[in-house]
Amino acid sequence: MKATCLIQNIGELASPTGNRAIKGKEMRNISIIRDAAILVDQDTIVWLGPASELPALEGPNPEFIDAGGKAVIPGFVDSHTHFVFGGYRDEEFFWRAGGLPYMEIHSRGGGIASSVKATREASLEQLLATAAPRLEQMLKLGVTTVEGKSGYGLDLDTEIRQLKAMRILEASQAVDIIPTFMGAHSVPMEYKGRAGAYIDFIIEKVMPIVIENSLAKFCDVFCEKGVFEIEDSRRLLKAAKTMGLEIKLHADEIVPLGGAELAAELSAVSADHLLKASEQGLSEMAKAGVVATCLPLTAFSLKEPYAEARKMIDAGLAVAIASDLNPGSCYSQSIPLAAALSVLYMNLSMEETLTALTLNGAAALGLAHDRGSLEPGKLADMLILDAPSYLHLAYNIGMNKVGRVIKKGKLVCTNN
Ligand SMILES: [Zn+2]
Repeated sequence: MKATCLIQNIGELASPTGNRAIKGKEMRNISIIRDAAILVDQDTIVWLGPASELPALEGPNPEFIDAGGKAVIPGFVDSHTHFVFGGYRDEEFFWRAGGLPYMEIHSRGGGIASSVKATREASLEQLLATAAPRLEQMLKLGVTTVEGKSGYGLDLDTEIRQLKAMRILEASQAVDIIPTFMGAHSVPMEYKGRAGAYIDFIIEKVMPIVIENSLAKFCDVFCEKGVFEIEDSRRLLKAAKTMGLEIKLHADEIVPLGGAELAAELSAVSADHLLKASEQGLSEMAKAGVVATCLPLTAFSLKEPYAEARKMIDAGLAVAIASDLNPGSCYSQSIPLAAALSVLYMNLSMEETLTALTLNGAAALGLAHDRGSLEPGKLADMLILDAPSYLHLAYNIGMNKVGRVIKKGKLVCTNN
């Protein structure tokens, strides 16, 4: 066997397995190999198993990485973020924490409108300068693939600028970036009270440019009462599909509007938030194979109840967990805190949490075929933990247990 890299002395190799979203009770079945080794050729895993069964190698000696008896897991796939934006909303965070009502926050100039204003005013260089360190932080936390959304421009130029920023960053650092066009994040001032006309503008004027320049893989919409309701969301997502984008939804976060049902009807890749999703909607999602993405950091930050991830898994859904990093409702990319909240407040086991942060995150991006688990044939995206077991990811609450990050077969980050 030929290999460019050998990772040896792995105390515990823990990973979900498979090439698609893992549903329901299967989510707790992870593979655990003690005293393991992994062989990588270029960017791909070619063998893994007990070190005692390591196959004979031919060709030049591979690079050798000693895992020091620690645990190794797949790189995290953060399938829902808004990491490219202008400005901050730090004051608003404290207004909200102090109990100021939503409408009052808006009248003081907070809310998404303030991010839209700051993002419109930011140059491409400014967007790059603030987004790059966020990615660097993610990599330290073990995120090897991240999704990023536009949606703080709500006009042609700024939406395209956000997507271009992601393309430039994708080429200049280690984390893979999967871009999502989310022009329908909010109704901009210019279209106040005319959500339908704004959807027409997106479909006719913005989406064609996104497609022409291959700037996005997904189209997403904030499907909520008083923002983009079911009819507008359906029209937008159908147009996006026709033009070749895959689709996602911010669904049923605030009221049960039928977003989960719409996600199932349109075979969306994922529906996200789902705090208020109906049982009917969730069961239709399970049947249609839509990944349910839960965002516990957002619930934590907003002091809202958590999504019912336990019930979703028990109902046979595939659940992914993502950070929802954004300047308003959740300024955090903390995978460690998300893991702890998942176990302590969403009542998932550590095994289910690991699957939700890796393979199901990859499935929520249509990428379960080539990442999200450690198996021959998959990308060599993996984390050497600074801990003897994957259990420490939630047990050592809120702490970064990632020691080293290997991305596509190369050591790209060392924390210790
Ligand atoms: Zn979001």
